[in-house]
Amino acid sequence: MRFLSNAHSHTIHCDGKNTAAEMIEKARVLGFTSLGFTDHGEQGFEFAYSMDEAREAAYLEEMRTLQQQTDDLRIWVGVEEDIIASAEVKIRHRQQLDYVISSSHYVHNPDGTPAQLNGEWVAIDGGSAMLRSYVDERMDGDGLALAKHYYDVFSAGIRQAKPDIIGHFDLIRKNAVKANLFDEKDPAYRRIALDALESVRGIGILEINTGAMARGYMETPYPTLELLGAWREMGGQVTITSDCHNAEYLSFGFDTAMKMLCRAGYRRVLRLGSGDQLWQDERVVLLRG
Ligand SMILES: [Zn+2]
Ligand SMILES: [Zn+2]
Repeated sequence: MRFLSNAHSHTIHCDGKNTAAEMIEKARVLGFTSLGFTDHGEQGFEFAYSMDEAREAAYLEEMRTLQQQTDDLRIWVGVEEDIIASAEVKIRHRQQLDYVISSSHYVHNPDGTPAQLNGEWVAIDGGSAMLRSYVDERMDGDGLALAKHYYDVFSAGIRQAKPDIIGHFDLIRKNAVKANLFDEKDPAYRRIALDALESVRGIGILEINTGAMARGYMETPYPTLELLGAWREMGGQVTITSDCHNAEYLSFGFDTAMKMLCRAGYRRVLRLGSGDQLWQDERVVLLRG
């Protein structure tokens, strides 16, 4: 049985390519039973990648209307919230939306504010040259120190925000090779990531996110098989998402993700419900081929 849902989808309200209606149409073609929208919530900067309060209101209005009008598959209305979002925004998200994904997309200064280099925001998944320059100029060239800082800030943010879903937990891998930050097989790096995951045990559902595969940046999803296995041993639950920015790739890599869950020893995977319950679980089935 294929995984017929996706809880992490972006539209033209932020940096997605398609309208919500186009995404729903693609979900129908694929035979999805449910679909969740999670455009990037208010974070106060980089408005090309995120909404402000007014755009969030327009997003919410459109999505609630589509939710009411769509009866052949269940629509859920969420948000992808960067941990940098203010406390006020986080409260609003929990009051207004069906669920929240917490993600960390930026490098942070020691005081918790997002870091800049030469007047530009330093995204953890942004340009590798800029990230390399940041590490050289501010962290004595130590890519592992950046990884430690990234996971410390992200895990503290997750413990504070208590999201429904933990977004692309090891996103820093995207630039590990290109920015020559660290070897992801290095036991020192793996220990940092495993300790961070351990520190959020019991909080939220971990997504296995294929978005970077669809965009050609990665050959495997976030997170690694090792982290997925550790999360299972902690009693954690998982869902499969495509972090979809283009309807064409709505279920891209889902078979690979399902195989990884099998290899990591999972028997059950969560998907957005098709009725009143936010989550339903289904069996992890080994797919042939
Ligand atoms: Zn994200
Ligand atoms: Zn996303």
